Amino acid sequence: MKQLRSVKGTHDILPNEIYKWKQLETIVSQACEQFGYHEIRNPIFEETGLFSRSVGEETDIVTKEMYSWEDIDGKHLTLRPELTASVTRAFIQHNLGNQSPIQRLYYSGPLFRRERPQKGRQRQFHQFGVEAFGSNNPEQDTEIIAIAWRILSQCELEKETILNLNSIGSQECRNKYRTALKDYIQPYIKDFSQTSQHRFETNPLRILDTKSEKEQTILKEAPKISDYHTRNDSSHFDSLIGFLKDISIPFSINHKLVRGLDYYTGTVFEFNSGNLGAQDALLGGGRYNGLVETLGGKPTPGIGFAAGIERFLIAMEQSKLDTKESNLDIYFVCLGEKALSSVLEISQKLRGIGLKVISDTLRRSMKSQLREANKLEAKYALMIGENEINDGNVIFKDLSKGIQKTILQSDIINFFEELTN
Ligand code: AMP
Repeated sequence: MKQLRSVKGTHDILPNEIYKWKQLETIVSQACEQFGYHEIRNPIFEETGLFSRSVGEETDIVTKEMYSWEDIDGKHLTLRPELTASVTRAFIQHNLGNQSPIQRLYYSGPLFRRERPQKGRQRQFHQFGVEAFGSNNPEQDTEIIAIAWRILSQCELEKETILNLNSIGSQECRNKYRTALKDYIQPYIKDFSQTSQHRFETNPLRILDTKSEKEQTILKEAPKISDYHTRNDSSHFDSLIGFLKDISIPFSINHKLVRGLDYYTGTVFEFNSGNLGAQDALLGGGRYNGLVETLGGKPTPGIGFAAGIERFLIAMEQSKLDTKESNLDIYFVCLGEKALSSVLEISQKLRGIGLKVISDTLRRSMKSQLREANKLEAKYALMIGENEINDGNVIFKDLSKGIQKTILQSDIINFFEELTN
């Protein structure tokens, strides 16, 4: 029969990889909690309109990458392609803004985009991220970037990543800049790709994202968005830059960084890594002051970032994180069917005092059970056979020291409590 395989662009995360995932997840949750952020978990699918209204009708995500379907009741549903929209929907739906003038939230989970799979780009991938609702001040932007920096430092990635920073300004700034940019590009429009020509009509700022060298050369002399910043835009951005210097987070101002989604306003940023090849964006974010209102809530400023977990793990390949979970404490060797109930009962009690215990379920020979104990790098083995059942004993073996002794079954918990304290 034909073997079934995972769908293109999706991956199984196998037990030998899970430990790194868990370590990264621990680093993320500890860092976020240090900054007073609380975890939120949203549904995997939402109404399609949530994403088209927030991410933008003309974005790559909405035009070609969403996994959407019409449900039996006629509702249009989509597997979430990003999480800021879902978190914002939840913020509005549950009136989180009424509970406190500032809401600090973080998340982690799977996302779905029908992109062309390559290294660091999948169709089901995972992100962690943070969102802060309520403050429009540059210290809030600084806090968000500082969380990202803390996580990168904990992962030993801060030296090989670069923070690219820009401000795409207010609506007023962007309207003027859009006109200026179009005026500049117009004479060269025939030299631009079809994608860029389409963006020229729909979302000209995104042309600045182009990877084509020819287009980049033309754009070298293009007007800069910072020349169109309002006084508020400039003072916000200048304060952010000052604060980042105060807390020693290095950055590089990149006038061409615009980020792909419609909801961004003002500060945008991306951490890029030298270890990732073409897909070098490790983490990206920005302000989205209009998003809560767009989705039907009271006007509330917001800012956040999202980072790809798979990309973090690729970038961390050279880092010193442990690849193995902590060792097994006890392998319980069971000799003969009669010993089964004692083995199961004592194993359960030992787990009750916090030990990690495996007991054999294959009814193998003593030799192969001990081989297994060594392979799993268990610290100790316990053994019960017919003699031990009759005498109420259990044989204890320290597998690294090779020491063996007989212990009364009734003393076993005391014995391990003393041994492990
Ligand atoms: P975005 O939501 O597009 O701003 O992406 C934020 C981060 O998510 C990126 O910097 C990547 O690390 C990660 N990411 C985005 N798309 C993918 C994908 N298709 N596969 C793997 N990681 C991704």
